[in-house]
Amino acid sequence: MKNSAPAPSALAMVPFVSVENMMRIVNTLGPANVIEKMADYIEADFLRWDQFDKTPRVAAHSREGVIELMPTSDGETYGFKYVNGHPANMARGFQTVTAFGVLARVDNGYPILLSEMTVLTALRTAATSAVAAKHLAPADSRTMAMIGNGAQCEFQALAFQRVIGIDTVRLYDIDPQATRKAARNLAATGLKIIQCGSPEEAVSGAGIITTCTADKQYATILTDNMVGSGVHINAIGGDCPGKTELHRDILLRSDIFVEFPPQTRIEGEIQQLDADHPVTELWQVIANRAEGRKSDRQITLFDSVGFATEDFSALRFIHDQLETTGHFVELDMLADPDDPRDLFGMVKRADVEGLKLTAS
Ligand code: NAD
Repeated sequence: MKNSAPAPSALAMVPFVSVENMMRIVNTLGPANVIEKMADYIEADFLRWDQFDKTPRVAAHSREGVIELMPTSDGETYGFKYVNGHPANMARGFQTVTAFGVLARVDNGYPILLSEMTVLTALRTAATSAVAAKHLAPADSRTMAMIGNGAQCEFQALAFQRVIGIDTVRLYDIDPQATRKAARNLAATGLKIIQCGSPEEAVSGAGIITTCTADKQYATILTDNMVGSGVHINAIGGDCPGKTELHRDILLRSDIFVEFPPQTRIEGEIQQLDADHPVTELWQVIANRAEGRKSDRQITLFDSVGFATEDFSALRFIHDQLETTGHFVELDMLADPDDPRDLFGMVKRADVEGLKLTAS
């Protein structure tokens, strides 16, 4: 912010949650508490599904990855997330996924929150996975296989421990360093952590299988023979055209649950299936309008791609924590001339305060 410019009015100031402030919020409240409460927000918003404007995200694809905008509105509040997905980033020292997002008032269009969303996306993805598993996974699930031990991994493990009650996580990653990192980070959680040498070893005895790998291709993280009857699959990593994790035969044996079908048909595991292959919308299961788990032998698959309402719920949750935690700064983000039509006059005021304007 410029020191010499006129002070903006309170109306023009927008709360900004930086990465540092997000870390403070998470540590003040506790990561598992944040995920659990965020899951409540996500579930509450799924229950009012009809109130939301919904559209598949707007994606700009490149050879290296994708940049996406994810907008939605409930009629009172508008939100969007900017997010990238670049599988080769990690090897170049960058995050695979980074994001930021905005909430705004619908009645005047003014933003009410600008937030980092890299950490927030990991929290909301974990919370959404837990909400889905709450309705779909076998009730007695205590062991989860976690294939792909990158940035999302520990958040997923915490979510399933807190919301579902799992007590054991079986980790596998093609990079053993990633598995060691996850095991280290999860050591103090009370979870029993088992580091596995193969995906087959990881899924052995697991009632829930989470796949969370990053590779821009039709990968086969799970083959058909690795998936026994009765398991719940939480498939996170296939979230882009041309990027999937499961063998097609697994999909044919599963009951498939999705967020928003028009987006998942393009981006999810089901891009491998015919366009009319039956899927159930997750919100319908939460609202008791469709059946979730019906039998002990059924394979349930949450084909997660991440949908705009979940980011909206996550931003709404963070917005509600600002007053109690105080972990934000105010940004001078909106022009606020004394006379709304006199924008030029406001710009010229900066000159009076000592800033030089160019002649034209
Ligand atoms: P990351 O790059 O931090 O971690 C990915 C991990 O997968 C790495 O440790 C890598 O070694 C491992 N991996 C790659 N291929 C593998 C294989 N064949 N077997 C086992 N492990 C393998 O990425 P991240 O942030 O953890 O995200 C993981 C994936 O989840 C990405 O594809 C991302 O786009 C996706 N994602 C989805 C959602 C959603 O809502 N569905 C949200 C966030 C991220």
